[in-house]
Amino acid sequence: MKQDIQPTYYQATVTCNCGNTFVVGSTKQEIHVEICSKCHPFYTGQQKATAARGRIDKFNKKYGIQSND
Ligand SMILES: [Zn+2]
Repeated sequence: MKQDIQPTYYQATVTCNCGNTFVVGSTKQEIHVEICSKCHPFYTGQQKATAARGRIDKFNKKYGIQSND
């Protein structure tokens, strides 16, 4: 195995804020991340959609426009 030439190489357990955990090769044993590759596209996509919708609602209210949805 290659482990012989890697001085300190763990199978690190990565814990994400979304609750997802996964294992990666790392020089650290434990890693905590706020966003992982699993939740990142979903998470940011949802945030952007929510933010955009909030802006539109504000705009419509300000100018007295009623949204049709
Ligand atoms: Zn995550």
